[in-house]
Amino acid sequence: MLNAEIIAIGSEMLTPFRVDTNSLWLTERLNSLGIDVKLKTVVGDDESRLEEAIRDALRRSEIIISTGGLGPTEDDITRKIFARVLKRHLVLNDEILERLRTRFARRNMPMPEINSRQALVMEGAEILANRNGTAPGMMIQEGKCTVVMLPGPPREMRPMFDEAIAPVLKQRVGDLVILRRKFSIFGLTESRTDELAAPVYLKFKNPVTTILFKDGQIELHLTAQARKSADAEKLLDELGGQLDEVLGEYIFSRRDETLEEVVGDLLRARGYTISTAESCTGGLVAGKITEVSGSSDYFLEGVVSYSNESKIRILGVPEAMIIEHGAVSEPVAKAMAEGVRKLANSTYGIGITGIAGPGGGTEEKPVGLVYIALADDTQTTVRKLIFPGDRQFIRTLAVNSALDLVRRRIS
Ligand code: ATP
Ligand code: MG
Repeated sequence: MLNAEIIAIGSEMLTPFRVDTNSLWLTERLNSLGIDVKLKTVVGDDESRLEEAIRDALRRSEIIISTGGLGPTEDDITRKIFARVLKRHLVLNDEILERLRTRFARRNMPMPEINSRQALVMEGAEILANRNGTAPGMMIQEGKCTVVMLPGPPREMRPMFDEAIAPVLKQRVGDLVILRRKFSIFGLTESRTDELAAPVYLKFKNPVTTILFKDGQIELHLTAQARKSADAEKLLDELGGQLDEVLGEYIFSRRDETLEEVVGDLLRARGYTISTAESCTGGLVAGKITEVSGSSDYFLEGVVSYSNESKIRILGVPEAMIIEHGAVSEPVAKAMAEGVRKLANSTYGIGITGIAGPGGGTEEKPVGLVYIALADDTQTTVRKLIFPGDRQFIRTLAVNSALDLVRRRIS
């Protein structure tokens, strides 16, 4: 696998006010071409630091891509420093100069003399036209290393990469097929997932597996490469099958679907409907379910029932039950689920009550305590969960848990 590194140039990216998004975008593109990004560096507009970064990169990488610093001003040093390190002259390219003059003339502006710097190109470099700006990019082959200089603004850099660089790199890589599969998991911690999965995926050099934690869910990204796509599929099937054996019930999707999409498909396939009664999640479950287009096929009604009075009046929770057990309790969650199910006349009813914090917790009922109930015509199950984290995370986990409860009930 070819290896690449990215050098993002610009002092602004060392401040909290600008983020280097170029390298993320480039990494995604390079990965999908089958190129491994081994390192990225953010360098300020500092000649000696940039020089060092380029020298280091040339020693170790087969592809170097820089972004930024190709403008006309004094702090745009990319061109100069690359030329110094690669020991090449910068020569004035008349064609680019002419294009720059025309570009300014078209806007009825005289071209500032400093802009002619942008017509300076490195001897032997291929010039990359810039459709969306003034600074042309450059590509040059130095020994085994392909060196690419792209402008900083994303709207200039992106089309330049896609049009001029991607095809060249694709040819260098050869006919490699890269296939990805994403397994989405809920109900395990990241460390527990890795404990179960690592003994399996570490046996494979190809596919490569990475674990990501996102909003309480875990993603396993499997990337396989082969000369033929059928071979890459086979590799993914093999690793995927073994991961299934250890993670089975916790995997809710093997094809990049969201939990709410999976639940929606399960409900629709069986002609089932659902309704929600939410206290501590304030309607977030209903919100998630209805993020999926076509959810009107199965989602009937959502009640945000925050006060005791509302639980009594709308959902029919007995007042005595709330007095005896408290609003955050197993019987109340159960009564909420059954109440909304009856109200909406749906196959399933979800009831959620809990303490999202940061205030309101007690020794007996700590912050993070959430009861989630799921009712249908034959039974109501209630889960008592204690989530970690802040208010937002507790609510997110409660939403995921409620959806997962439905998934597990139906599938
Ligand atoms: P210009 O001709 O516009 O000066 P340039 O190649 O000199 O182009 P820079 O001056 O380095 O580019 O950056 C111009 C702008 O592009 C920055 O202000 C920033 O908004 C954006 N930019 C630069 N580098 C990055 C990056 N790595 N990620 C995201 N945005 C970037
Ligand atoms: Mg600039």
